[in-house]
Amino acid sequence: MKCWICGAENAATREHLAKASDLKVLFGKPSQAKPLFFNASDQPSRPRRRNVKVGSLKSDTLKFAHRICLGCNSKRTQPYDYAWEHCSGELRGAVPRLLGAGSFRANWLFPHDTRRCMRRVHLYFVKLFGCLVVEGDIPIDVAPLAKALVEEQPYPHIYLAFGHLPLPVVAAGGSDVHTAELNGQVAFASWFYHVGDLAVNVMYALPGEQREGLKVAWHPSMGAQRLRFSRFGD
Ligand SMILES: [Zn+2]
Repeated sequence: MKCWICGAENAATREHLAKASDLKVLFGKPSQAKPLFFNASDQPSRPRRRNVKVGSLKSDTLKFAHRICLGCNSKRTQPYDYAWEHCSGELRGAVPRLLGAGSFRANWLFPHDTRRCMRRVHLYFVKLFGCLVVEGDIPIDVAPLAKALVEEQPYPHIYLAFGHLPLPVVAAGGSDVHTAELNGQVAFASWFYHVGDLAVNVMYALPGEQREGLKVAWHPSMGAQRLRFSRFGD
């Protein structure tokens, strides 16, 4: 299988759909006796998976079926993984305050090298979104996403919105990917990644798309000043 990021033929590792560190924080170490619940999208290539019981963080249920190569899964994208791990922990620990304020400053999350760290958070979701696109055969060209990941540059069409999304059960994972097409091309796609009540709305939007969700979204080109923290699902 070919790695969609670098094109290498020996794509042998599978990316986690939800970050193992996020799952660990939320559930501790799952076991067969104390499983965690996992949600995943219902892409055409896969059956619907809602609140799937998982007994181990190494379970294949938690990973994309499509593979990326070891170099891309480790060295290349680890800085992005770490940036999200940090961001996720800080945001989760401050949800009540963030809901009260409605926003947060990027340099509160990352006091040093703020722009680069925020760009890495963006790239973490570019990677996950690319995996979803490949996995679900969504008609979006992943070559520019791969290029952004390789060059550590922002990808122009992916926006993130952070916020609180209350869920009926303690769960982690992702929603379905909802897409809207224009002239046979995906013009807008929306996907929620969630760790407990913390949610990230990952949006793919071509220029000219004016969707409600984009109003509270952030992109690295906007700089790393103040980011909105929303109440999703209201
Ligand atoms: Zn690769």
